[in-house]
Amino acid sequence: MIPYGNHTIDQDDIDAVVDVLKNQFLTQGQQVPAFEKALGDYCKVDYVAAVNSGTSALHIACLALGLNKNGRLWTTANTFVASANCALYCGAEVDFVDIDATTRNISISALSTKLEQAKKNDCLPDILVAVHFAGLSCDMKALATLSKNYGFKIIEDASHALGGQYSHQPIGCCEYSDISILSFHPVKQITTAEGGAALTNSEAIYKLLRLFSQHGVTRDEELILDEYKSESDGPWYYQQVELGYNYRLSDIHAALGISQLKKLDSSTKKRHVLAKRYHQALAHLPINLPVEYEDAYSAWHIYTIELDHKKYNEQDRLAIFKRLQARGVGVNVHYIPVHLQAYYQKLGFKHGDFPITEAYYKHAITLPLFPRLSFAQQDTVISVCEEVLAI
Ligand SMILES: *Cc1c(COP(=O)(O)O)cnc(C)c1O
Repeated sequence: MIPYGNHTIDQDDIDAVVDVLKNQFLTQGQQVPAFEKALGDYCKVDYVAAVNSGTSALHIACLALGLNKNGRLWTTANTFVASANCALYCGAEVDFVDIDATTRNISISALSTKLEQAKKNDCLPDILVAVHFAGLSCDMKALATLSKNYGFKIIEDASHALGGQYSHQPIGCCEYSDISILSFHPVKQITTAEGGAALTNSEAIYKLLRLFSQHGVTRDEELILDEYKSESDGPWYYQQVELGYNYRLSDIHAALGISQLKKLDSSTKKRHVLAKRYHQALAHLPINLPVEYEDAYSAWHIYTIELDHKKYNEQDRLAIFKRLQARGVGVNVHYIPVHLQAYYQKLGFKHGDFPITEAYYKHAITLPLFPRLSFAQQDTVISVCEEVLAI
């Protein structure tokens, strides 16, 4: 079976990890700060807090922006559940915005309409999580304008998008957002096995990200509450000022991340070559292909095709999916809309709430795309698609 995605680990990665095991601190040593520095340089952002998962990064991002039980977070439903769950961790309310049928990212017109309505009803969101689906950036300039007009903050969920660009800047630079988060799960653009990071250009936000990822405990004079400190507290003194978590990344993971990051540009280029080959070979089939647009250089995290909506229904998608799998093509589906997950339906969301997202989901199939996919394997995928769609 040709998998839909796969990580790439080479000898350099193995050596980097073994070196930590043999010679260095396993946690709280030099590898995590070095990984943070490397990510900051790559993404052209001032501050990086590496943590143990992308989900943890989303959680501390929400906390650092002050989300609480009186708050509201909006995101798109065409994403992994973590993009929305972070709101619920903070006790906040969550709601969704429909996607654009072409980019599969948040629809600016749906968002504008929903914001106008929310303003009238006095229920504007505090935070928008902008998901760069499949590695293609959202329209950040439009989102930044809306954020100014309606007063919400922006977290970029760039779990798919490390290595991509928007308006000639690396994704993660936070030019149009407060925080960007990354994931280093093995299917993502680089891996640390488990891992993630929250990126920001604000020193104040960075201090809070750190605080919430380390038990809410600090030695920072600016964060310490003097009234709780006594004269006899010495150099050992630390203070817990918030309820934080242990979301630290280990040095073993960070060493792998440093090594992986060095290969990101070449693997992104390879993803582009493969995506272009799919575009050319699949253009004649009754499917909608994923796009890029002028301002956006996609990271091509996944290659998701959409069966023609008029020709195929959701039963056809199931049959086609099974036929592809039976012929050795490891397809997948991204994503089951979050609002249709059982947990979210129990919160009151229902079928029909976000029609573009749902129609997209019913026709979506993710084809294999990862840096080590050979042209020969890809040609097999292409010919199997042609065969299966001819039935
Ligand atoms: C993978 C992913 C996450 C969560 O990342 P983890 O590192 O697995 O916790 C969040 N959002 C999106 C869009 C993802 O794809």
